[in-house]
Amino acid sequence: ENIQGIPARITAVHRGLFEIVCDKGCGLAHLKQGSYRTSEADYPTVGDFVMVDWAGDGESRIRETLPRSTFFARRDPSSSGHGEQAIAANFDYVFIMQALDRDFNERRLERYLTLAWQSGAAPVVVLTKADCVGDASTHVQIAESIAFGVDVCAISVKTGSGLGALDRYLEPGKTIVLLGSSGVGKSSLANALSEDELMATGEIRESDGRGRHTTSHRQLMLLENGAMLIDTPGMRELGMWNADEGLSQGFADVESYFGQCRFSDCRHDGEPGCAIAEAIRDGSLAPERWESYLKLKIETRLADDKEGFLRD
Ligand code: GDP
Ligand code: ZN
Repeated sequence: ENIQGIPARITAVHRGLFEIVCDKGCGLAHLKQGSYRTSEADYPTVGDFVMVDWAGDGESRIRETLPRSTFFARRDPSSSGHGEQAIAANFDYVFIMQALDRDFNERRLERYLTLAWQSGAAPVVVLTKADCVGDASTHVQIAESIAFGVDVCAISVKTGSGLGALDRYLEPGKTIVLLGSSGVGKSSLANALSEDELMATGEIRESDGRGRHTTSHRQLMLLENGAMLIDTPGMRELGMWNADEGLSQGFADVESYFGQCRFSDCRHDGEPGCAIAEAIRDGSLAPERWESYLKLKIETRLADDKEGFLRD
């Protein structure tokens, strides 16, 4: 069965080979020759909606990437490339995961929140391994004080506690991406949620063209209720580049002081009448939070400069 130009979604990316799902079923696809240049920003990634020439059990061809609603990107790692490369696309929520046994770290949480806001999706803080601490409420409070307007949940996959709080995000048609360091329990959560899931039959074997085979996991899973989960290893490489917008959203509390300084061009560095200094003095702004903001700001600037440098 051959059908020209139907929409499909990318569920996994291997070297030059893509797993796709469309209303005809699941299949494998290559890029249509001549339709993509290497290191283009629209190079298909997990979660992308694409137009394909469907060939059923044969080799389907990807013609075009449809515009993304949200995405995570990294700088293109290929030496010839100078652009960005998306590593997950079209998700509604970002589960920012930190483990309560020892992984919990406020500064890293602020970093993840910035990246999540930058993606265009809504962050949700998920504190994992709640069974490892007697009482998770202190950590929840700390996280809430950093993550304004963001839901904070404490869960344990081991005991099942708190998992119900995630239901409101796991809605039919919604896509959730899991973000967090290795070992925080991303795959454990994915497994727990996908007990009856339909598509993640686990692994496929892929040939790299030289007769060697590698095995990889599917990266987008369809849960039984119609929600989708993205857990991709590429997330480890996310940098603070191009993150100004996310920083402003994640640190809206900090930036709200800027307009209140005596001088409109205040550098918040000891100038008289500085609202930041005043807020730190009267205790309404934690000095660590201000430092954290400055650090991420500098990191973003440096990353952006490097990008400019590469472009020249
Ligand atoms: P990932 O690298 O983020 O995918 O983390 P994994 O899901 O592989 O989990 C890392 C380790 O943490 C494994 O040994 C899991 O059994 C353990 N783990 C995951 N969730 C929990 C939990 O809720 N409680 C406890 N005690 N251990 C957990
Ligand atoms: Zn100031």
